[in-house]
Amino acid sequence: MIEYRNVSVIYPNCIQALRNINLQIEKGEFVFVVGPTGSGKSTLLRLVNREERPTSGEVCVAGKDLSKMRGGAVPRLRRAIGVVFQDYRLLPQKTAAENIAFALFVTGAPRKEIMSRVIESLDLVGLADRADAYPHELSGGEQQRVSVARAIINNPQILIADEPTGTLDPDTSWEITRTLERINIRGTTVIVASHDQHIVDRMHTRVIAIENGVIKRDVKEGTYHELAKS
Ligand code: ADP
Repeated sequence: MIEYRNVSVIYPNCIQALRNINLQIEKGEFVFVVGPTGSGKSTLLRLVNREERPTSGEVCVAGKDLSKMRGGAVPRLRRAIGVVFQDYRLLPQKTAAENIAFALFVTGAPRKEIMSRVIESLDLVGLADRADAYPHELSGGEQQRVSVARAIINNPQILIADEPTGTLDPDTSWEITRTLERINIRGTTVIVASHDQHIVDRMHTRVIAIENGVIKRDVKEGTYHELAKS
């Protein structure tokens, strides 16, 4: 589903964010990317929807080499990839339902279909009763649920989440993670950059640890830190 081949990213300020990354993520996986701030997690995620491009090497998504993709095809790629940010990025003047619907209006979908899909995705994140609330009327956890609902409205093949629980308390973080898990079980490949040791350990899923732009560890049923060898 996603393949990195000898991928390096050097930013214009000469910082090398990723160094010769080779990595495969299969369809339907739930993957955590962990590592200290500045280790390259966001850059790794941003390559998937071509927000960032490799300085060398290739990134392939669903069999397509993104470096060969023409600019006109990028919007279609991005519709197939939901994105969740740490800071929610909701439009403050729009209700929860309107924030979610916004991503569908641009696709030209009929209004009736939009409304039924908005309700379906709010339902999936457990917020069907807050459709008409504005972001400032919602807690941080609820706002993040709205942003997850927005990310899945187009039924994406891939969901990338960059520190989605970075500002939330432990219980709320766990609820959001379980919501991402439900989306994964429905078939979406989910990649989460996280600092949250507790969540990563509790999920016990694939963990890719990067440090200084290099993959240090890639474990199928992993934990945040390497377990001491006995
Ligand atoms: P993480 O998500 O693990 O915190 P990032 O991928 O954001 O790491 O950053 C990796 C390195 O690249 C850091 O040293 C960061 O300062 C640098 N960096 C990230 N984005 C940019 C950018 N747009 N321009 C220049 N340097 C950047």
